Amino acid sequence: MDTEELVDGVRRGELRLHELEAHADPDVAATARRHLLVEDTAADLDAVGAYTFDAADAEPNIENMLGAAQVPMGVVGPIRIDGGAVDGERFLPMATTEGALVASVNRGCAAIRAADGATARVLQNAMTRAPVFRVADVGEAGEVAGWVRDNVDALAEAAESTTSHGELREVTPYVVGDSVFLRFAYDTADAMGMNMATIATEAACDVVAAETPADLVALSGNLCSDKKPAAVNSVEGRGRTVAADVEIPRETVETYFDTTPAAIVEANTRKNLVGSAKAGSLGFNAHAANTVAAAFLATGQDVAQVVEGANAITTADVRDEDLYASLTLASLEVGTVGGGTTLPTQAEALDVVGVRGSGDPAGSNADALAEVIATAALGGELSLLGALASDNLAGAHAELGR
Ligand code: NAP
Repeated sequence: MDTEELVDGVRRGELRLHELEAHADPDVAATARRHLLVEDTAADLDAVGAYTFDAADAEPNIENMLGAAQVPMGVVGPIRIDGGAVDGERFLPMATTEGALVASVNRGCAAIRAADGATARVLQNAMTRAPVFRVADVGEAGEVAGWVRDNVDALAEAAESTTSHGELREVTPYVVGDSVFLRFAYDTADAMGMNMATIATEAACDVVAAETPADLVALSGNLCSDKKPAAVNSVEGRGRTVAADVEIPRETVETYFDTTPAAIVEANTRKNLVGSAKAGSLGFNAHAANTVAAAFLATGQDVAQVVEGANAITTADVRDEDLYASLTLASLEVGTVGGGTTLPTQAEALDVVGVRGSGDPAGSNADALAEVIATAALGGELSLLGALASDNLAGAHAELGR
């Protein structure tokens, strides 16, 4: 069917808006949807329809496709990193509509480069899925939890039969009355791994249901915890737990941030630590979510997972007059295969970082992406803390007449 026939079919009630791809090429279906919306709304959709990829390639990623949202993309770097997966300089594309964000992160990255680079490490790779089971009472709950602890190998065999890359690392039982939650944690190599972990966990749940009195209620029981602010991710980690730190000479701090290490440390302590504690925040940082979100958008990550990607703690100290600063992200969920990573602009952005597709060994590309994002986010922390510290310093100087 052509565009006009699709539009007429919808108008006559013979076709539903989500059924158009069954009767036409996905690009034609998207065009027909735009025609219908243009007639029914005040929009013209010319910009939404000006996309450069083949709609068929996006079919696994979107339903009811209209076109594409375009977000400006900038770049920060080169970022110098001594990492577990990265050794050298990398650029990081960032897609955002927040003016000054890229410039700010880039300033921090320049200071890190001038300080001979940051150290970064992925400390854990553990994508989680936590099904919830119903049991009769707490006695039975204890029995099921004990069985699970004694039979992790059997659960791993079932889970790993569904994937050639995923490896079950651990299963942690949590009991609340007559509910038993099993938090499965997987090494997902280069995949962010949420589909992989879900499919694998379903197979393991079949074993639990067959061998114990527990009945599965939901494959996800929210103790995972996906796309919700949750302390469990901050404490136990989810996806990549990754940290970056740097020691910046006092003169470099003064050159790049127009302030002193001591002023940055005070701003970090009072704002990121004391202020966040008073607020009951899970994020003890200045704006890690900014770098995480912009990097996620650019590189095809699941942007809703910025919720847990912002579970990060920034520390700062004066060491022999110089500035030591670190950023530890507890639950950064990134992949270089699967999900949105194969779409054209996203794949090109991954090429800029040098991490498109499978790494060698598997997992090294996603580790590298995590280290680059963590280091750039550390740059963002330094830059914002520096701006706050230098403003306050300037204010104090004016007030004191110096
Ligand atoms: P996926 O696109 O579903 O699967 C990626 C697959 O790539 C893996 O399963 C793996 O196959 C294969 N693969 C090839 N080379 C690999 C390598 N080097 N390392 C790892 N895997 C490799 O992606 P996913 O990461 O599992 O899931 C991400 C998607 O899940 C996103 O689209 C996200 O939006 C969505 N999501 C799903 C849920 C959910 O509850 N299901 C929740 C949140 C988000 P094998 O497994 O055969 O090895």
